Amino acid sequence: MSLLITTDCINCDMCELVCPNNAIFPGEEVYVINHDLCNECIGVFPHPQCQQVCPVACIVQP
Ligand code: SF4
Ligand code: SF4
Repeated sequence: MSLLITTDCINCDMCELVCPNNAIFPGEEVYVINHDLCNECIGVFPHPQCQQVCPVACIVQP
């Protein structure tokens, strides 16, 4: 499973820096998660790192 970034994203770059799988990249309007690369941080961190750092809580379960 992969998480999803909503249009509430403010393009702060924080999530891109912490993703262990380099699954997050800038999209045309907001940041985007590559669903093939995101594994929700399972087995690496107890919580999804991107959700931990996002200041506007716009990373959600699809
Ligand atoms: S949940 Fe983890 S692997 Fe998925 S995008 Fe966020 S930081 Fe990257
Ligand atoms: S941390 Fe949140 S607001 Fe910042 S770029 Fe990522 S999704 Fe957007």
